[in-house]
Amino acid sequence: MAQQEDVFKKLVAHCKEYGFVFPSSEIYDGLGAVYDYGQNGVELKNNIKKYWWDAMVKLNDNVVGIDSSIFMHPTIWKASGHVDAFNDPLIDNKDSKKRYRADVLIEEQLAKYDDKVEKEITKAKKKFGDTFDENKFRETNPNVLREQSKRDALLTRFAKALNDNNLEELRQIILDEGIVCPISGTTNWTEVRQFNLMFTTEMGSTADGAMKIYLRPETAQGIFVNFLNVQKTGRMKVPFGIAQIGKAFRNEIVARQFIFRMREFEQMEMQFFVRPGEEMQWFDYWKSFRLKWHKALGMGDENYQFHDHDKLAHYANAATDIEFRMPFGFKEVEGIHSRTDFDLSQHAKYSGKKIEYFDPELNKSYTPYVIETSIGVDRMFLSILAGAYKEEELEGGETRVVLRLPAVLAPVKLAVLPLIKKDGLPEKAREVMNTMKLEFNCQYDEKDSIGKRYRRQDAIGTPFCVTIDHQTLQDNTVTVRYRDTMEQERVSIDALHTMISKQVTGAELFNKLLQ
Ligand code: ATP
Repeated sequence: MAQQEDVFKKLVAHCKEYGFVFPSSEIYDGLGAVYDYGQNGVELKNNIKKYWWDAMVKLNDNVVGIDSSIFMHPTIWKASGHVDAFNDPLIDNKDSKKRYRADVLIEEQLAKYDDKVEKEITKAKKKFGDTFDENKFRETNPNVLREQSKRDALLTRFAKALNDNNLEELRQIILDEGIVCPISGTTNWTEVRQFNLMFTTEMGSTADGAMKIYLRPETAQGIFVNFLNVQKTGRMKVPFGIAQIGKAFRNEIVARQFIFRMREFEQMEMQFFVRPGEEMQWFDYWKSFRLKWHKALGMGDENYQFHDHDKLAHYANAATDIEFRMPFGFKEVEGIHSRTDFDLSQHAKYSGKKIEYFDPELNKSYTPYVIETSIGVDRMFLSILAGAYKEEELEGGETRVVLRLPAVLAPVKLAVLPLIKKDGLPEKAREVMNTMKLEFNCQYDEKDSIGKRYRRQDAIGTPFCVTIDHQTLQDNTVTVRYRDTMEQERVSIDALHTMISKQVTGAELFNKLLQ
């Protein structure tokens, strides 16, 4: 684990050093859990958004996009339940004065039991080799059974406390489990209190007439309140979806894991409207589609898992998360929720407008049910970087840091490098660059040795480096060097475009999604 934390620290440093992510307002010592994306970060982020948008809106004929405002009428947040219920339970350690989320402390305790079980299994696997029967071991080994039963008991108690909204019981669980503050090492905890995560501001010029409004904590409500607009103007027929990418704001209590938990972040959400009673089949459909979307990137199927929710949100009748193996364990990247007709019904109630759909096939009107897919751009960004970051030992004892990014997402697709800075090579390199740059993001670099330039491109994940040398002037060929294998190949300039295009456009990934 310590080693993994080490990797995470290096990744954060790498993000800063290579222009991916900077702390916000850094020259003023930063602002808690707010970050800026640098010159490479913004490209990666835009590519992630494009991959999502194209997969959701272009690939699915019945999904369209919108872009709604961050500011919305405050009653929307009353109707959605956020004013009353968008809370996290917080707890302070009296000795360290550090603040924690009570639910997260308990979840971490659950993960510790899981770790213990996994350790027993790994140990036994090593000992018994090929003859090892994992299922039988899980069912019979006394150590595994003991940890598993402690875990199950804790989970049951935890889920009940959350569902009953029983804050005293959450505190009691923390005490009974002997959970200590990682800083002070003590169990000197305060009471657990609810904390609303929405930021507020004022709209209007005079203090009297100003209206308190919220910075949206999710983009979904902008979709719900535009349901009728889109359905009517787009002549959409249920089932259909509305997708949106945009900023969201949450005053997170604990924000310590870099861009995993930010106070200003970006979401990519889709609400899919279905006939009541058909929601479970669509829930399964979107679960499987979304997992395929992640796996198509080739970051390793074993790094993804579903995690069903122990406690359902007030609006949901089924919910699962897609988790990715981050350096600090499996963590949620995306949520898939069956939200029933809760949101549309609430908005109908609070606005006094009829929000229904007339289904010509059934010849009746109803309030559609909703399946939501909700993914954080920044968390996706972190998962991709965490999966791609590699420190590799090369022959001759050298090492390199390489980002093995999917080519579709790489910030720079192609580096154009004249071998030396004279003999007409820079001019030829510029020529090659000009034929490529309108279609692919290219970078020209003539400084330092070719080896150093390759390393710089490895560090930002550029899949192709093209070197222009003296032979290029004679036969119009270049050396293409591949990031992952570091192999080199002589290729004609005329063939470059097709070769690169095949790998960096999304077409191949989308084919996988359609299978
Ligand atoms: P968590 O349990 O981690 O607080 P959540 O269940 O509240 O997350 P959702 O409300 O389901 O999250 O939001 C959907 C997605 O938005 C999440 O899967 C995550 O990718 C992203 N997200 C939520 N909160 C944040 C945040 N503070 N910073 C970055 N991304 C976030």
